Amino acid sequence: MLRRTAPFLRHFLLERNSSAGHSSCSREAKMSRPVQARRLEGIDKNIWVEFVKLATTYSKVNLGQGFPDFPAPDFLTEALMRVVSGGSHMLHQYTRAFGHPPLVKALAQLFEKLLGRDLDPMTNVMVTVGAYQALFCCFQALVDEGDEVIIIEPFFDCYEPMVKMAGGTPVFVPLRPNPPKDGKLMSSADWQLDPTELASKFSERTKAIVLNSPNNPLGKVFSREELGLIAELCVKHDVLCISDEVYEWLVYDGKQHIRIASLQGMWDRTVIVGSAGKTFSATGWKVGWVVGPDRLLQHLRTVHQNSVYHCATIAQEAVAQGFQRELTLYGKPESYFVQLPKELQRKRDWLIQSLNAVGMKPIIPEGTYFLVADISPFKSDVPDVPNSDEPYDYRFVKWMVKNKGLAAIPLSAFYSEAHKNNYTNFIRFCFAKEDTTLKAANDILQKWKQEKTSS
Ligand code: PMP
Ligand code: GLN
Repeated sequence: MLRRTAPFLRHFLLERNSSAGHSSCSREAKMSRPVQARRLEGIDKNIWVEFVKLATTYSKVNLGQGFPDFPAPDFLTEALMRVVSGGSHMLHQYTRAFGHPPLVKALAQLFEKLLGRDLDPMTNVMVTVGAYQALFCCFQALVDEGDEVIIIEPFFDCYEPMVKMAGGTPVFVPLRPNPPKDGKLMSSADWQLDPTELASKFSERTKAIVLNSPNNPLGKVFSREELGLIAELCVKHDVLCISDEVYEWLVYDGKQHIRIASLQGMWDRTVIVGSAGKTFSATGWKVGWVVGPDRLLQHLRTVHQNSVYHCATIAQEAVAQGFQRELTLYGKPESYFVQLPKELQRKRDWLIQSLNAVGMKPIIPEGTYFLVADISPFKSDVPDVPNSDEPYDYRFVKWMVKNKGLAAIPLSAFYSEAHKNNYTNFIRFCFAKEDTTLKAANDILQKWKQEKTSS
């Protein structure tokens, strides 16, 4: 049939078939040189792609990927509905490339309060497609071939491939656990940097350090002393700080989130990264931002204007209205920034108690909506496979989701290849979930424990 068609039509059909994945045609398209850019070598695997698929296929209860399963606040969804139905039709068109004016103005107003300094909404703030794009802009704009970037382990996994894509070299420094001697549960505050070890990682090749406080996955909220030490080293070695603060409002037990940019000598060398996904429990909106000095942000704008260029106007407008509400309620009990952590602390405490009761020892997080737990007492159900390439906690989570229907994330996914194997006794749970979801997780764990004790 193809043979009888006119040559141009035949070509068109072949093209179409080849894009539909017909193997005979893809053979024709084979090239003699590699198609993959070298910068992608070794970064093709992704924990979220792999474990989200597993959770979607097998889980009854998903405490894996970090997103709330409760609704975003009414004031935010109502703002979006107003924007879509009653707002100007121009809100469906492009807005300013570096951030919709009402949103950058609201962010500048808020961060002026938080940092105690005047900000220019047009030069000190930029809106991005989630915190992911904010981070991507930071690494692309500030890191060069041969530069070293210090990353504190455990770390949100994308830092490492993003540094590599920019041509930089990640240099890892671990938070070291110091278990309490009195038999109490460990807290994320018991995971600390060794000051001498941290200092040893700074050299003339160091361009930047990535700080993530509150930290994903541990929930550690860095203390003023710890931030002071990092700041001192940044100033001494003229190093930039990429400060991922997406969980800035999720801090518990009266702890305070301290912004490293507010410390002596740090404003001029820090880019703060934030996310409306975390701030307003709307991860699917993918609205993020950076706040920092123009001398750094001007280069992030260059990356942004030549890649993404623009973020969805309606989402930016609704988030702006969310921030305007929060600015009027700032510090008041009705503020979402006060209510959300209160509610999450209750959920955290409930999950701590539930995990502790079954013997899966939790590490109490001071912030974020994640909790890391020690799986040691459950390891007998999932025997080790000596010499396996796959870390034990990966196998444990895969077994758990397939056999118990409960999804989590292996902790070693948040470590570099060199250090992964030292942290395979832990898994991470997300507790930004409806009470019914947490209760269903508790039921699975209780039943599992009973089966173990009766066998
Ligand atoms: N940083 C950290 C520490 C995170 O946990 C996440 C996860 N979402 C991001 C950045 C990316 O945020 P966003 O969804 O806004 O892109
Ligand atoms: N930040 C979220 C987490 O840590 C989700 C990241 C993702 O899905 N890429 O779970």
